[in-house]
Amino acid sequence: MECIFCKIIKKEIPSDIVYEDDKVIAFLDIHPVNKGHTLVLPKEHNENLFDIPERVLDATMRIVKKIATALNRYSDGVNLWQNNGKASGQLVDHIHFHIVPRFNGDGLRHWSGKKYQEGEAKRVAEEIKRLI
Ligand code: AMP
Ligand code: ZN
Repeated sequence: MECIFCKIIKKEIPSDIVYEDDKVIAFLDIHPVNKGHTLVLPKEHNENLFDIPERVLDATMRIVKKIATALNRYSDGVNLWQNNGKASGQLVDHIHFHIVPRFNGDGLRHWSGKKYQEGEAKRVAEEIKRLI
């Protein structure tokens, strides 16, 4: 089955496009967290942050900033998020950045935080440093 975002890029299925150039497209999320929730993605099909070439990511991030700036004019603040892999909640395997306009008192909540045990943060940081 072909990628749904590739179909949107090829205009095979409709979407509410807010920006488009030769490399990047931005359109409204069909199930918005808030009004104006926009997805920004490269036209080149790459699955996630791990396999996207740097040059494609650079082009995409320039537009992420442009759209986030516009949405910040439309609202009181902006959340940027991006899922990679099933465990993260990624549903569409074509890399995309969610830009969510935030309104004072809109009631959306951030993830609840966890706590480290004594000495655990140091071990976790060491493990991550080893993996870089
Ligand atoms: P993710 O969980 O990061 O993969 O997010 C996928 C997002 O794509 C979800 O927020 C969906 O609401 C959105 N989505 C799925 N199909 C469409 C579509 N046809 N047009 C616009 N947004 C879509
Ligand atoms: Zn695709």
